[in-house]
Amino acid sequence: MPTFDEARDLILRCAAPLGVEVVALDDSLGRVLATDQVSAWDLPMWDNSAMDGYAVRAQDCPAGSVLQIRGFLPAGRAADMSVVRGTAAKILTGAPIPSGADCVVPFESAEVREDTVRLLIQPVSGAHIRIQGSDLHAGECFLIAGTLVGPTEIAVLASVARTSIPVIRRPRVAILSTGDELLMPGEPVAPGRIFDSNGPALAAAVREAGSIPITLPIARDDPAMLRKQLEQGLLADALVTSAGVSTGERDLVREVLRDLGAREEFWKVDIQPGRPMAFAVAGDCCVFSLPGNPVAALLTFELLVRPALRRMGGHLRPTQATRRVPLGEPVQPRPDRVTLRRVRLEQIEDHLVAMSSGQQATGFVRTLAYADGIALIPSGTETLPAGTVVDVHALRQRGDFGGGAQ
Ligand code: AMP
Ligand code: MG
Repeated sequence: MPTFDEARDLILRCAAPLGVEVVALDDSLGRVLATDQVSAWDLPMWDNSAMDGYAVRAQDCPAGSVLQIRGFLPAGRAADMSVVRGTAAKILTGAPIPSGADCVVPFESAEVREDTVRLLIQPVSGAHIRIQGSDLHAGECFLIAGTLVGPTEIAVLASVARTSIPVIRRPRVAILSTGDELLMPGEPVAPGRIFDSNGPALAAAVREAGSIPITLPIARDDPAMLRKQLEQGLLADALVTSAGVSTGERDLVREVLRDLGAREEFWKVDIQPGRPMAFAVAGDCCVFSLPGNPVAALLTFELLVRPALRRMGGHLRPTQATRRVPLGEPVQPRPDRVTLRRVRLEQIEDHLVAMSSGQQATGFVRTLAYADGIALIPSGTETLPAGTVVDVHALRQRGDFGGGAQ
């Protein structure tokens, strides 16, 4: 049985980045760059003013100089004049610096009288000028392949006039809930039946990971039906099933996948919850057979499926760094395997501590909704006292650490 780290490494070795597609700049938000981005020109393209003020020649102007104002240079057009000794040009932020001038004296450091200006400061060569190429040089790579595009990346891409952006294709992820007991939303409640929560939850998790969910109709614990649905799912880049993956006589998912030619890489990981989980590869499709229990399904998705989707989606860092956080209370580890503990991160004085987010039994999904993170509690026999530092995997959708998630 692989450890958690071994299972994740194996999955990441099987997941390969998908192909490239080109999207409009507006549509690149949330996408991953497929190529390094190199600027064709300098940024700024020309020396320009960082302030509203007067463009002057510093060496000709001791403090108190009175200069003739010649010309007005707003942003948006080339400077059509030169500044000579004894003169200044009124200039606005962003306007190109006229020839002859080497600094800008801000309005607030100057006094205007009719068509002359008196400098209240000693101008310094280069002051308040944005130098050509000081932000970015022609030929320089400014964003590397694998970068996630957000508003700030769009700002840089737009400033060098990119309109079409090569990005990695989003993984298409088929989602299949299995089980005779499952009801679809809107169906009437019936004895012994429960509503499918894994389907909607995993579809949301897939979307949040930047992939495209394709939710298949619920499959019953019946080999023929399961086969038909799984066959459909294998056409996607990844297939995520839930339930039917333990050792019960109705647990048919692995067997049917094997019949369909999927190569199982492992079954069972050394974690709790989430131990009965299988990973297989069928052609180009990575198949994750997650446990049915909603907490186990979501935790294994977060820790083992999401990194694979990020790798397929071209992210530079497919796995999320964990944080080292002290426990806020004593915790009894399991003797035999790593426990995934649902925790809230609470601010105590100047540091965070990990506190239980509530009932830890696998059946309670509500306490997962209250958690800021998943603490990885190593196996052992001794109680871990409060203050023991453990790895915590942040649940990003919870936003900031330290808040009350409830
Ligand atoms: P199984 O792995 O099939 O034994 O299922 C384990 C537990 O998870 C059982 O209590 C199931 O009823 C429950 N379960 C399975 N699938 C789902 C689902 N899609 N939504 C909510 N609970 C489920
Ligand atoms: Mg079942």
